[in-house]
Amino acid sequence: METRSAKLYEEAVKYIPGGVNSPVRACGSVDSFPLFISHAKGSKITSVDGVEYIDFVESWGPMLLGHAHPEVTKAVQAAIERGTSFGAPCEDELVLAKMVCEALPSVEMVRMVSSGTEATMSALRLARAYTGRNKMIKFDGGYHGHGDAFLAAAGSGVATFSVPGTPGVPDAVVSETLIAPYNDLNAVEELFKQHGNDIAAVFAEPAAGNMGLIIPEPEFLPGLRSLCDKYGALLVLDEVITGFRVSYSGAQGHYGVKPDLTTMGKIIGGGMPVGAFGGRREIMQMLSPTGPVYQAGTLSGNPVAMAAGIATLKVLQKSDYPALASKVENFCQNLEAIFAKKGVQVCINRLASMFTIFLTGQKVKDFASAKTSDLAMLSKLYKGFRERGVYVAPSGFEVSMVSFAHTDEDFARTLSALEDIKL
Ligand SMILES: *Cc1c(COP(=O)(O)O)cnc(C)c1O
Repeated sequence: METRSAKLYEEAVKYIPGGVNSPVRACGSVDSFPLFISHAKGSKITSVDGVEYIDFVESWGPMLLGHAHPEVTKAVQAAIERGTSFGAPCEDELVLAKMVCEALPSVEMVRMVSSGTEATMSALRLARAYTGRNKMIKFDGGYHGHGDAFLAAAGSGVATFSVPGTPGVPDAVVSETLIAPYNDLNAVEELFKQHGNDIAAVFAEPAAGNMGLIIPEPEFLPGLRSLCDKYGALLVLDEVITGFRVSYSGAQGHYGVKPDLTTMGKIIGGGMPVGAFGGRREIMQMLSPTGPVYQAGTLSGNPVAMAAGIATLKVLQKSDYPALASKVENFCQNLEAIFAKKGVQVCINRLASMFTIFLTGQKVKDFASAKTSDLAMLSKLYKGFRERGVYVAPSGFEVSMVSFAHTDEDFARTLSALEDIKL
């Protein structure tokens, strides 16, 4: 059932580090190897062995409409016919920029890039230039792409200096990165008290999606907003996952919080490589060529990617987000009931079309509590699902994604797969 994938993987590791172009795909943390995908349509993804799976990864977020949505495919095909890159402005860049500014009231101007990583790196540079300060606060377990400054790990205890989160990042680069536990406003306030005049920005996922799904407690985002205001720092909401997913106006619309800058990616590219960052006009105009802050990209605003993004957002404008959220809520309740029958302790965090199964008796509200999840059992769960045609994230610290293409039958089949799995 997985022989051709296994063979391709065996060969790929000779030419590509770990056989993959992004590490989590290797499935190492669930003691498996990657499935090679041949094609995907709607809620289903098909491996090179011809096996079809119900897909709860959705390319890690972009495919909120499901795979190969006909409107998006049509737009991409038409764009390709007109040429794949110009290196000069095209009208679709303006169309997508306007759509983003209309969707997110906090965004008055936006610049397109080609990945979420580029968006957050550029937003950080801009925040530093605007405030004339160098430090930033991020949250333990928060992910903002693989820019050096973000790849920091908490040192011993909060409010101490950070250490590089990976070899290859100099100490000096992360010495400006301060780390607090998610949902812990006191820790953030403590950092501001110590370093207030040096902090350029707080970077936060408005609902964290890269340590599994963590919901912000009601006071958390408003608290960050007022601390940033008090100390003259910018609030940057990283909506690379949540943008156009939690609602059409992102998590910021859902929670009613207004950041100074927003970073985006994933859904706005409709499966093509796109990222974006935007915010207050006065800040954005500091970018070159209107201002002194350098930022550029050969493929930024790429016409094919813009067409995919526009087509995706147009369909999303007509999509019923609350209906999808209530399907997911119902599905999660059914999952909980099955785990309860099995006598397995579980905490399923969910928001809109996202959920994460943490196998723990604790309430998961930050990275420390996320790490109480039973990873050995999660690995069994992953394999059990995969054997039964359900494709979930190969890690306990990722979000499962549901698309508008998922059907009641997909949910029912996934539930009966879980019934069947011995944990
Ligand atoms: C995926 C992600 C990024 C990085 O985006 P890439 O396109 O993978 O570079 C940044 N921030 C968040 C919150 C993400 O989930």
